[in-house]
Amino acid sequence: MVKFLDLQKINESFEPGLSKAVSDVVNSGWYLQGEQNRLFEKEYSEYIGTKYAVGCGNGLDALILILKAYIELGVFRKGDEIIVPANTYIASILAVTEAGLTPVLVEPGKDNYQIDIAGIKNALTSRTVAVMVVHLYGCCAYTPEIDIFCKKHGLKLIEDNAQAHGCRFADKRTGALGDAAGNSFYPGKNLGALGDGGMVTTNDKSLAAMVRRLGNYGSGEKYIFDSLGKNSRLDELQAAVLREKLPRLDQDNTRRREIAAMYQRGIKNKMIRLPDAFAKMGESCVYHVYPVMCDDRDELKNHLEKNGVQTIIHYPVPPYRQKCYENKNMLKLPSSLEITDKIHRNELSLPISPVMTDEEVHCVINAVNSFKK
Ligand SMILES: *Cc1c(COP(=O)(O)O)cnc(C)c1O
Repeated sequence: MVKFLDLQKINESFEPGLSKAVSDVVNSGWYLQGEQNRLFEKEYSEYIGTKYAVGCGNGLDALILILKAYIELGVFRKGDEIIVPANTYIASILAVTEAGLTPVLVEPGKDNYQIDIAGIKNALTSRTVAVMVVHLYGCCAYTPEIDIFCKKHGLKLIEDNAQAHGCRFADKRTGALGDAAGNSFYPGKNLGALGDGGMVTTNDKSLAAMVRRLGNYGSGEKYIFDSLGKNSRLDELQAAVLREKLPRLDQDNTRRREIAAMYQRGIKNKMIRLPDAFAKMGESCVYHVYPVMCDDRDELKNHLEKNGVQTIIHYPVPPYRQKCYENKNMLKLPSSLEITDKIHRNELSLPISPVMTDEEVHCVINAVNSFKK
């Protein structure tokens, strides 16, 4: 059986360092807002290439804290519009509604599945205050055109970097390309904790300070509460675990790209569309998942399962079709979301992880190639 993601094997590959990191924290007697958090924030900001990094509870909170911090700083007002991709994990859009802002959904490009500049231009109104790009599937969604558009119209450029740690664009990394980025260390992400964790990266000093304050009950100074905050902190255990794992991230991403290249070469099946656009992107893709498209997606999934290959769909139902957004006043939608619908209908993620063996990769390739109607 080729597992979709063997987290046990991944974490075992960091032993004995991982267990030592955990027990050192246990023995230290200090579990929140300590040395591990301080050092991981420093190391992660250096890795991403931003001046500041602020740990928080998870990736969703990282995005919420960025948006609420901009509100608290007077940059955004409640009801302002944020342009977001329609095809994403719900967290990107949930962050916007949670902050009291309005998500304006935009179609992706047909080939790269990333938010499209033409859609962004169409979505602009007098209430638009930001564009959120999501580096979906671990592939860079940032483009200089989007950046120029944001600067021209005075919009903040926010990155959802939950799926793309280590991804590069030219000489920078995602997470350092816009005004602020939300990062997630959910266990299954390319850099994963042993539980929840998140981080805001930014070069904006006042934003970083406000995010830190809002994540700590709205308090910048002990027992002084200047803002209505929440409790969202990265704990010392997770920070220590992530410090242990960060130094190997580039190597792990290289292995992901190797596996993707093997799929790209080895899969030959007319019914299946590979992410060709990603293959051309080099280090601008870190393959959080390897998405293939197939009109008979569910049959393909069953066929692979029968042949010992576990797969996952990212994601079966687009956020705008979810019950939680039944009230269509919460979202602004374009007249058609057919590209988004098609992606969610056809997408299937093949196994990809730094601990997969070549043998397992070939097993997946053979199973995919043997699929027919
Ligand atoms: C995982 C993920 C998040 C949220 O991260 P959590 O740590 O699970 O809250 C946000 N956006 C995208 C695109 C994600 O994949």
